[in-house]
Amino acid sequence: MIESKFMNRRTFIQYSAKSAGALLLPGLLVTACHGNDLCESENWQGKVVVIGAGAAGMYAAQLLYKAGAQVTVLEASGQYGGRIRPLTGFSDFDIELGAEEVHGNKTRWYNMVQDAGLDFTNTETTDLLALDAQLLTEDAAANDPDVTAALQFAENLYNYSGPDISVAQYIANQGIPARVHHLLNAFIGNEYGSDNTRLGAKSTAEADDLWSAGNDNYALKNGTLLSALEYHCPDILDKIVLNQPVQAISYTDNSVTVTTETGNTYLADKAIITIPLAILKTGAVTFTPALPDAKTQAFANIGMDAGMKIILRFTNRFWPEDTGSVYGNGYIPEFWSTGFGRSNQNNVLTAFICGPNAQYLSSPGQNAIQTALAELDALFGQGIASGAFDVGFVMDWFKQPYIGGAYSYPSPNSETHRQQLALPVANTLFFAGEATHTQGHQGTVHGAIETAQRAVNELLCSVKG
Ligand SMILES: Cc1cc2nc3c(=O)[nH]c(=O)nc-3n(C[C@H](O)[C@H](O)[C@H](O)COP(=O)(O)OP(=O)(O)OC[C@H]3O[C@@H](n4cnc5c(N)ncnc54)[C@H](O)[C@@H]3O)c2cc1C
Repeated sequence: MIESKFMNRRTFIQYSAKSAGALLLPGLLVTACHGNDLCESENWQGKVVVIGAGAAGMYAAQLLYKAGAQVTVLEASGQYGGRIRPLTGFSDFDIELGAEEVHGNKTRWYNMVQDAGLDFTNTETTDLLALDAQLLTEDAAANDPDVTAALQFAENLYNYSGPDISVAQYIANQGIPARVHHLLNAFIGNEYGSDNTRLGAKSTAEADDLWSAGNDNYALKNGTLLSALEYHCPDILDKIVLNQPVQAISYTDNSVTVTTETGNTYLADKAIITIPLAILKTGAVTFTPALPDAKTQAFANIGMDAGMKIILRFTNRFWPEDTGSVYGNGYIPEFWSTGFGRSNQNNVLTAFICGPNAQYLSSPGQNAIQTALAELDALFGQGIASGAFDVGFVMDWFKQPYIGGAYSYPSPNSETHRQQLALPVANTLFFAGEATHTQGHQGTVHGAIETAQRAVNELLCSVKG
């Protein structure tokens, strides 16, 4: 595995890891709902409506189908995959607009991706970091005492157990010099889907403590994550009904009626709800009877912020060939070299921004591509990036009407609420999706997959005689 000084335990940093020799551990993680029962293989022929066709919804539907259930998947948008979405035709390789890396090798998702015939890249990379007015390699930056202090802080954060102040406040309390705050924001806040002013120090430590996926990250050498999802959900692709935004859910102890904005009504015995947290927060979907207060408090208390990727294609590569990430000090915490390790010719950088900065770049009057180019020019030399710019694409997840942001994050005092978010209601409504992961894998695809397993297991246990 490739190790780096700038890699914390749960980094989203673009590191390509060697797949050869990777430990293949069994990925099964099913939370039992009744004692130690595992109900995933139960046979049950009831009717289930799954709401949302992202990773969690599609995988839940596939597991239910295999168990014998009659499944319908209602998807609000015109495509399935949710926050797994490839951009094809932009460059000579497919680009991931949402989830891009497989985090860890101890999950079912890691095995699923390989089983689908996809390979991981096998390349070593070097990161570049903006410090004062310079762009330093990771080795050069590691000699700077403030960078060392920042890295130590990131390392120690995961032991923090004090009051749930923001990570930014904790950084200030520790006296970490301001000249490296942008690096800590890139390593921690941005990776977790927001920024350091909004992450709770204790909640982040709690979530990270539960992380069991493994610490290495894997980038695809070929294909797309959507193709892996399709490969593993073959029986339910024709059960997905697109353009069906669910508006109202009314339920009893043994039935559920789901009504869509288009006026369609679906009756079922059970529902699995995988709607992203940012949408649940808005109250756009009504529940009758109303959900328990603890559940709606969980919607409110767990954070989910804006998130954006800016994909930039250049006529020539102005960054060193082995570049992994470039940590800037403007609105964009991190760029990475996209497609490195694939057999491609195009020169592509991805900018990844979450939290208030993403919201700012999403606001009227802002031009995210121009901002990205100006920040790259400031890092690499005046006119270097803008002069080589060819074409750009902005994926603004905040503006996606049925997603509403990047992914859930450990906001102050949030983590205890995830249990409530995940709890079934009336043995009729079951909740899945990344934000309902209670074991630290929120904000990831493997986490979404694991919640699908958990929710299906709960559902099948609930009908067990
Ligand atoms: C920019 C970005 C980068 C990321 N990078 C990574 C990464 O590198 N690795 C990783 O593991 N994870 C990453 N993630 C996170 C990962 O993509 C998500 O955690 C995961 O895909 C979420 O799956 P889900 O099924 O819970 O939700 P979604 O994929 O959001 O699926 C929910 C579905 O519900 C639908 N829906 C919403 N409202 C309604 C309604 N009213 N009626 C019917 N349907 C509805 C939505 O349209 C959507 O299709 C990233 C995410 C983003 C945005």
